[in-house]
Amino acid sequence: MARKRDGAELDPAELADFVLAYARGEVPDYLAAAFLMASYVRGLSPAETGAMTQAMIDSGSTLPLSGVARPKVDKHSTGGVSDGVTLVFVPLAASLGLAVAKLSGRGLGHTGGTLDKLESIPGFSTELLPADLEAQVERVGCAVAGQSADLVPADGALYALRDATATVSSVPLIAASVMSKKLAVGSDLILLDVKAGSGAFMKTPEDATRLAEACVDLARQRRRRCRAAVTDMSQPLGTAIGNALEVAECVRVLRGGEKGRLRELSIEFAAAALVELEARGVDEARRDAAAALDDGNAAESFARMVGAQGGDPNVVEDPDGVLPLAPIRTEVAAPGSGFLTSVDAEALGRAAAALGAERTRKADPIDPAVGIEFFPRIGDRVDTGDSIARVHARTEAAAETAASAILGALSWSDEPVGAPPLFHTWVRA
Ligand code: URA
Repeated sequence: MARKRDGAELDPAELADFVLAYARGEVPDYLAAAFLMASYVRGLSPAETGAMTQAMIDSGSTLPLSGVARPKVDKHSTGGVSDGVTLVFVPLAASLGLAVAKLSGRGLGHTGGTLDKLESIPGFSTELLPADLEAQVERVGCAVAGQSADLVPADGALYALRDATATVSSVPLIAASVMSKKLAVGSDLILLDVKAGSGAFMKTPEDATRLAEACVDLARQRRRRCRAAVTDMSQPLGTAIGNALEVAECVRVLRGGEKGRLRELSIEFAAAALVELEARGVDEARRDAAAALDDGNAAESFARMVGAQGGDPNVVEDPDGVLPLAPIRTEVAAPGSGFLTSVDAEALGRAAAALGAERTRKADPIDPAVGIEFFPRIGDRVDTGDSIARVHARTEAAAETAASAILGALSWSDEPVGAPPLFHTWVRA
């Protein structure tokens, strides 16, 4: 501990023993918290990060997926606001002949979680035993489930402690956390979406690129194929923020009806998977992915996955009839005319969380129906009175609070401003 505090590099075996002992409950929280804070402040070398990652994998069981014959791709986002790429990507990749066994997490703070989103579909179960998960992936091409308690348990324990000790946003600690969960699953390709901007852990593309490189380096150390995209989170990716609202938006994208950044990013990830796993040219891969959205194949894969996991597959044909709806809908009007210059995406995520869409503590219940639809993109011009957002709430008072939080999260200018790029860079192993 003192060596880490003073900036020295730890012996990888010693560090691994410490992590494994913490996962077994043999190290008290105060010691682990001190280690996390020292690591947060001093950083971890690539060798230390590698040892920590391996110890986290070794703390539990793995999911080799050896019974799945199709090429297997996994995808992970470091977390953002209105980030429905996983919901679109998983069935899209399956409709293109790939296999996706996606272990997802729940939302916490201002970022949404894929499990919470899917559970807004009545009946949908995210609790799959490893054998059932594997069988479903073989049969349907895809499955999304919660991580079992014995897969990388050290991450579960350390993440909770990081959350409580303000040590989450450290490049090596996030890289070890993300990659331990990805490397414990037997996929042929790992795709990472490392978010950069006001709604992400990493606020700048430079910091996000450092995280992408640290993650890819961990895959490279283990000879696993991995590509990481650094993508924009300076504003919500899609329009919807909130669980059922996000499912409805993803259904519109899966049916080819909705264009925009969520569709674009989903196509880009599916194309990257086809390029890496099927040796397709990038233009052909993009065309194939777009076609699967436009011809209904991706939507059909989604309906099959939802049905296989106990949910109502009619969510694809009739999302409004199947998904829960909030009783109050309030339009938020633009307070003046001008160009949208910046969005505090985290504040929008927190406004949705305050409506009940996310947890502020791990054990809190969530309300699947509430949330925000946010319409303009940075660079758009709006006129006074234009509807810029719609709040879906349980009460008028909650809707009003959210409306003022939304207005407080935006900056405007009389001068035109450019739209931020959706992609910053790709990093590959
Ligand atoms: N997502 C993770 O899985 N772990 C982190 O540490 C941060 C985001």
